[in-house]
Amino acid sequence: MKQTKAYSAASANSLLAMDTIERRETSAHDVQIEILYCGICHSDLHTVRNEWSEIMATTYPCVPGHEIVGRVTEVGSSVTNFKAGDRVGVGCMVDSDHVCDNCQADVEQFCPNVIFTYNSPDKHLGGVTYGGYSESIIVDEKFVLRAPENLDLAGVAPLLCAGITTYSPIRRWGDIKGKKVGVVGLGGLGHMGVKFARAFGAHVVVFTTSPGKKEDALRLGAHEVIISTDADDMQKHAGTFHFILDTISAEHDINAYIGMLGLDGNITLVGAPDKPLPVSAFALLFGRKSISGSLIGGIRETQEMLDFCGEHNITADVEVIPIQQVNEAYERMVRSDVKYRFSIDMATLKSA
Ligand SMILES: [Zn+2]
Ligand SMILES: [Zn+2]
Repeated sequence: MKQTKAYSAASANSLLAMDTIERRETSAHDVQIEILYCGICHSDLHTVRNEWSEIMATTYPCVPGHEIVGRVTEVGSSVTNFKAGDRVGVGCMVDSDHVCDNCQADVEQFCPNVIFTYNSPDKHLGGVTYGGYSESIIVDEKFVLRAPENLDLAGVAPLLCAGITTYSPIRRWGDIKGKKVGVVGLGGLGHMGVKFARAFGAHVVVFTTSPGKKEDALRLGAHEVIISTDADDMQKHAGTFHFILDTISAEHDINAYIGMLGLDGNITLVGAPDKPLPVSAFALLFGRKSISGSLIGGIRETQEMLDFCGEHNITADVEVIPIQQVNEAYERMVRSDVKYRFSIDMATLKSA
């Protein structure tokens, strides 16, 4: 086992602080990665604070982080796709059973035995898996992704969760070229949704409650911005959308957005409000509309997303911080005071 520096939380009420964790030795199919940047996702905060205790209670110490990019430092004897020095990424999953129908269909995120990057049972060392707020990580080669050579790694890190979370439902909805596509909310997820919808050729419309975000939405690639609290503005666009990506994780009126959809239109949820959202059946019946959910993406699709980002020069808009500011960054994330994702410079952990 190898001792590795990390930032961990000791309990639901603790701040993240310097710690030492153990990583396994590199076995035949493993890739050892020196972590260079790790994005901060809302899931990190929810897990650290045990806010999802009913679905998956947090085991402490907790080392979060599933938007990982770095450099390969060592590979196992059977690894042929990666070598020392390669630029790679690791997202929300580090393993699965490899054999179930969902794994066979390249949607490992729905494998009943998926191992998430943190707070999942660790079959190698016991206890739970530890995420990317650390110096290094060792991951089965099947769950290691190739980072495009031309992109800034600080902005690539958030692609591993926020990127694939928004790319996957947009892709699944088919050819959106020339079609009217809405993105609800302009945070970490929403700003990526805008970039992808634009890159796929859609007419992109952002729904936001904050008039202050209008300029930024246009800069990120939106063609139009609708202030969702403006009833007249909403009415003007009613029944005109082909697809809407809903990234809001707070309570909100989803029926208002279903009303924006045209015939056979779909709204896909990627945010996770903690209370159920009331849905009007009538709103769906008239126009044969549908509502869906989506969760990250499989490994094959995540690689496709990264390659697409390389071709189209897409990265997340990030504020790079030293790991010593991570607790403050959590507070700012709660207030949506970040454009649009924090990316931790992990070199600052080495020198700590
Ligand atoms: Zn995430
Ligand atoms: Zn499986």
